[in-house]
Amino acid sequence: MIVNVVEYTIRELTMKIIFLGPPGAGKGTQSEFICRDYGVVQLSTGDILRANRKAGTELGRKAQEYMDKGELVPDSLIIDMIKEELKKPELANGYILDGFPRTVAQAEALDKLLTEMSDKLDTTLVLEVDNEELIKRLTARRVDRKTGKSYHLIFNPPPEGADVDLYQRDDDKEETVRNRLKVYEAQTFPLIEYYSAKNMAERVNGLGKIDEIYGEIKKILDKYKK
Ligand code: ADP
Ligand code: ADP
Repeated sequence: MIVNVVEYTIRELTMKIIFLGPPGAGKGTQSEFICRDYGVVQLSTGDILRANRKAGTELGRKAQEYMDKGELVPDSLIIDMIKEELKKPELANGYILDGFPRTVAQAEALDKLLTEMSDKLDTTLVLEVDNEELIKRLTARRVDRKTGKSYHLIFNPPPEGADVDLYQRDDDKEETVRNRLKVYEAQTFPLIEYYSAKNMAERVNGLGKIDEIYGEIKKILDKYKK
C-alpha cells in the first residue's frame, strides 16, 4: 500500500504592520490587497470614526467637529478607542493599522500598549506621494456606501456595470484636503523619523499603477511573512 504522507506546517500568521502616508496616498486601496493575500485585518481609525458618527455615539459626536475641519481628533480619544480595538479576537492573526498612529504621542502610546500585551510590530510601510498628486486623488475620490471601498472618478473607476452607490466624503473637498495635507506634514510626517530610528520604516513609492505599487509592497512584506 502506498501512503502519501503530507506534511503540514502550522504557520502562525501574525504579521502586524503600520501603514503610514499622507491622505490619498493609497493606503486603503493597497490594504485591501494586503488583507486578501496575507490574512490580516485592516484597522482604519478613519473608518471606525465615521461608523461612530453614523451611529451617533458619544465618540462620533466628539470627533465630528475635528474631522469636518480636517484636523486631528484629540489623542486621548483615539488612544482609548485603539485600546479597545486591539483587544478584539479577530486581530489575533495580524493586522494593518491604517491611519493610526498619526502623532508621536499616539505612537508612544501604541508602543506602551503593545509592551503591556507582550506584543510587537513587524514594520511600518511608508507610502510616498507628492502633494500635487494627492490633491488630484482626493478631490475625485468616491467611496462606495455598500462596501466602503474607495474609487477614483478617473484613475480608478468602478468596473462597468458594477453595483455601487458612490458618495464623496465631506472632507474630500479641496479646501479641507489642503488643510489635511498641512496637518499631515506638521503632525504625522515626524513619525517617519520616529520609526526610521527604530529601523522600522520601509519606504514605497506610491506613484504609478496600483498593481505595480502592490508588487513593491509584496516584496517588502514577504520578508516579514512568518
Ligand atoms: P488613503 O487611504 O491613503 O487616504 P485611498 O486608498 O483612498 O487613500 O486612495 C485615494 C484615492 O486615490 C482614491 O480615489 C483611489 O482610488 C486613488 N488611488 C489609489 N491608488 C492610486 C494610484 N496608484 N494611482 C492613482 N490613483 C490612486
Ligand atoms: P485619510 O487617510 O484619507 O486622511 P482617514 O479616513 O484616515 O483619512 O481620516 C479621516 C479623519 O479622521 C482625519 O482627518 C481625522 O480627523 C480623523 N482621524 C482618523 N484617524 C485619526 C488618528 N489616528 N488621530 C486623529 N484623528 C484621526
